[in-house]
Amino acid sequence: MSSIPIKTVLYAIKTCRDGNNFDKIGNSINSMLPDDNIKLIHKVMKMGHMSVIEHVNFTFGIEGVSRSFLAQLSRHRLASLSVESQRAVDVSHANFVVPDSIKEDVNNSIIFKGALEHTISAYKRLIENGVPLEDARYLLPNATPTKMVFTVNARELHHIFDVRLCLRAQDEIRQVVTMMKDLVQDECYELFPDELVGPPCNNVGVCSQHNTTCINFKKLLQKKIDSKQE
Ligand SMILES: Cc1cc2nc3c(=O)[nH]c(=O)nc-3n(C[C@H](O)[C@H](O)[C@H](O)COP(=O)(O)OP(=O)(O)OC[C@H]3O[C@@H](n4cnc5c(N)ncnc54)[C@H](O)[C@@H]3O)c2cc1C
Repeated sequence: MSSIPIKTVLYAIKTCRDGNNFDKIGNSINSMLPDDNIKLIHKVMKMGHMSVIEHVNFTFGIEGVSRSFLAQLSRHRLASLSVESQRAVDVSHANFVVPDSIKEDVNNSIIFKGALEHTISAYKRLIENGVPLEDARYLLPNATPTKMVFTVNARELHHIFDVRLCLRAQDEIRQVVTMMKDLVQDECYELFPDELVGPPCNNVGVCSQHNTTCINFKKLLQKKIDSKQE
């Protein structure tokens, strides 16, 4: 028995090609072997007929991420976001986000922490002096943590995986999007099989970044050289 998201996609596919009404379409979906249904979905996705998976939506609760992460995620225009408001929430006691590249070096951690303490102390003093949160927040750094509810359809999620799982993507968003990928693969692997999930170096064997320091790009180049020698 197929899950509701899978059935929804199958209805969308069969609506395009099958002249029958929905009752008959439902019967034909139920009479097909689950494996055949999945094969059909993958065939259609590989053809690029991707609107059929737009009918499946995923909602994520994301917290403990930086405003810098938010700036990047919110560039994806085909998703819906509800974000914690800095006009309503005093963040002076929050856990600020420290990038791994800074965390792993003691000196850099001290520099970062010092600047943060200085800024947050000024933010607190402004609030104590009666400055509204919505104005005191102008001091807050990109490291300020935030939380959000993020809703996105399966097609846009594939696009996000394409661009944000690339090793060229920034570390924090790549880490969070990797978790999103793992979650949707757990819930609905049929729509996100490894062979169809980005970045493009993984699923289609091409790279538009041409960054010679990237390990995946080097592997692609090596593959090309090997195939020419064969
Ligand atoms: C490694 C990396 C570095 C980046 N660096 C920068 C940077 O320096 N500066 C910067 O400003 N941004 C940067 N970005 C953000 C990037 O430019 C995009 O804004 C972001 O990736 C959102 O993706 P998108 O625009 O493809 O698609 P989405 O908004 O996720 O939309 C999905 C797709 O829908 C279509 N679409 C959506 N809206 C429109 C539209 N209005 N017109 C036509 N087609 C549309 C497009 O096909 C698009 O690919 C970077 C992104 C990455 C991954």
